[in-house]
Amino acid sequence: MKTPKLMIAGPVGISDEVREALAGPLVAHYGPEWVAIHQETVELLQQVFQTQNDLHLLVGSGSAGVDAALGSLLSAGEKILVAINGFFGQRMATIARAYGLDVVPVASPSDQPIDPDAVRACLAADGDIQLVGIVHHETSTGVLNPLQEIANVAREFGLPILVDAIASMGGISVPVDGWGLDVVVAVGNKCLGAPPGLALISVSPRAWGMMESRPNRGHGWFFNLETWREYAELWAGWHPFPTTMPTPNILALRTALKDILKHGLESHYQRHVRAAARVRDGLIGLGFELYLKLAYACPLITAVKARPEFTVSELHQFLLDEHNIMIAGGIAELRGKIFRVGHMGLATSDEYVEALLAGVRDFLGRRGF
Ligand SMILES: *Cc1c(COP(=O)(O)O)cnc(C)c1O
Repeated sequence: MKTPKLMIAGPVGISDEVREALAGPLVAHYGPEWVAIHQETVELLQQVFQTQNDLHLLVGSGSAGVDAALGSLLSAGEKILVAINGFFGQRMATIARAYGLDVVPVASPSDQPIDPDAVRACLAADGDIQLVGIVHHETSTGVLNPLQEIANVAREFGLPILVDAIASMGGISVPVDGWGLDVVVAVGNKCLGAPPGLALISVSPRAWGMMESRPNRGHGWFFNLETWREYAELWAGWHPFPTTMPTPNILALRTALKDILKHGLESHYQRHVRAAARVRDGLIGLGFELYLKLAYACPLITAVKARPEFTVSELHQFLLDEHNIMIAGGIAELRGKIFRVGHMGLATSDEYVEALLAGVRDFLGRRGF
């Protein structure tokens, strides 16, 4: 099997240290020794989330976390505002509809951020809305939405906010308590440099209150956040979660978190900023045009417009075959129109960045440009 350098929007390449933590002997997920490791991992995550809120590790992908949050917070028939400016905003709306929620979309074009004034106007016009849902970094384009402003708008209306921070947490600052973010979903396998398989969710006291006031939501057991809280309390000393946990995955996440916090969050954020700047300058120098205005672009992904001289898939395949580098294409409507380079995990290293630029230069040279 090929093991290309991953320069996509997750999963990301992991360090040797994280890989070793993943590959150790298998340990059981209960008993005092494991509980201490689990607790330490939760506390390290709270530092990254900048929160004192409860934080749970659910088994599943990022979407499982968004699914658990939506199903736990609201009952079928209730209204949610979902901000949509790309594939993952659409995904949040799809999950909400799957729970029978009434989705009120506030949309922006895919190359622009959500407008806080549009959110305010929508909330002012519809007093039945119970929750605001938004993707922080819309990975399908790289747009960074103005989360703090939108959280402030939600607060003006006394509403809680659910944030898909799957592709931003750990890569840029997401001050959960500072910005008053009620439920925040992240994963290990994007900006935290850990393997896939865990959804990380912080829950504010107000969000727990919402769940308590809706006792008959009827959204099952495993993906009900209240189940996770119940076991965290009831079985605190020996098994603070309801089910078997992927212990290798948690050990790897803990190692990745310790490494990030050892160097400091600010220094971890700067790695992404530097990698994004170098890739952007390099690609512009090679004649490419970025999909976004720089002011809208998150430093964790760079979306680049396709060129008329060749297709995105030709470039993608060449980099894979000749340079062992994997980049991402466009999703849905943007398929074939853009390609995306991730600046997460090992993709922030000079080695990956220079290899990518050398690979693209080689492609253009062989095509005679
Ligand atoms: C990757 C991603 C997801 C989906 O995560 P899965 O782990 O594939 O379920 C959701 N939202 C955003 C913003 C993402 O980048």
